[in-house]
Amino acid sequence: MRRASLLAALLAAGTLSMAVSAQRAAHGPNDDSKTITLQKIKDNLYLLSGNGGNTAVFVTDLGVVVVDTKLPGSGPALLAKIKTVTNKPVTTIINTHAHSDHVGSNEAFGTAVEIIAQENTRLTMDKMDAFRGEKVNYLPKLMFKDRMTLGTGKDRIDLYYFGPGHTNGDAWVVFPAARVVHAGDMFADTAPPIIDLTNGGSGLAYASTLARAAEEIKNVDTIVTGHSSVKPWKDLTTYADFMRGFRDTVVDGFDHGLSVGEIADGWTLSAKYAGYTAPPDRVKADVEAIVGELSR
Ligand SMILES: [Zn+2]
Repeated sequence: MRRASLLAALLAAGTLSMAVSAQRAAHGPNDDSKTITLQKIKDNLYLLSGNGGNTAVFVTDLGVVVVDTKLPGSGPALLAKIKTVTNKPVTTIINTHAHSDHVGSNEAFGTAVEIIAQENTRLTMDKMDAFRGEKVNYLPKLMFKDRMTLGTGKDRIDLYYFGPGHTNGDAWVVFPAARVVHAGDMFADTAPPIIDLTNGGSGLAYASTLARAAEEIKNVDTIVTGHSSVKPWKDLTTYADFMRGFRDTVVDGFDHGLSVGEIADGWTLSAKYAGYTAPPDRVKADVEAIVGELSR
């Protein structure tokens, strides 16, 4: 089934489990690999990539903070990699959003771990089959709306929510001492994003949410993306520009009465976005999402 028609079916059915499988499929075949690689980003801060979304591991005086827990079944590999850099226990999980490739292995870290997320992400996770019965223990218990600070000094973490985009609960996780932010899937890759309308995502708001993050997050030089490599901070502004251009093209096409297909076929990836990719199915799905919002 083509992605566009799959998304249409999703919108009609509106079921979370289907949304999650579509989302997982969209992240590509590499997600099925059990290989997880570790890269040091800064002192006490590591990137674990592979088998789902990018995981950040932050070693503090009080224990290890893990940002995102990848696809289900990643726990043993995550714990093994963490053990190569510290003997401290994992005390805290931060979920950037509710998709199963970011929350799938929360349960691997036991019930004593504090799990934190933006409040809309908790509401989405409440509806997921993966967190029913005993698994409610692995839902976030500490929520924030717009901003929250954890820890102090070199261990400080600042959490922000800047508005809808990929979902309606995307947390931005800032490590001030390291000058690093984990952007989750708000900046998954240098490509058109997945816009999960079912869970409150918005292609109309996406660019402004990115621009707000670029404006309001201070003193950061490095971005951990949701699924790609670590990027320099300035790349966030470029991505916001890219998304604004994409949105404007769709809004203009819609205003001129063009179909989803015509708008998608008429949009081209500008050469100024070096290294960006634009898979046609994703472009069409995003056009469809934005046209859907405009048609509400
Ligand atoms: Zn996602």
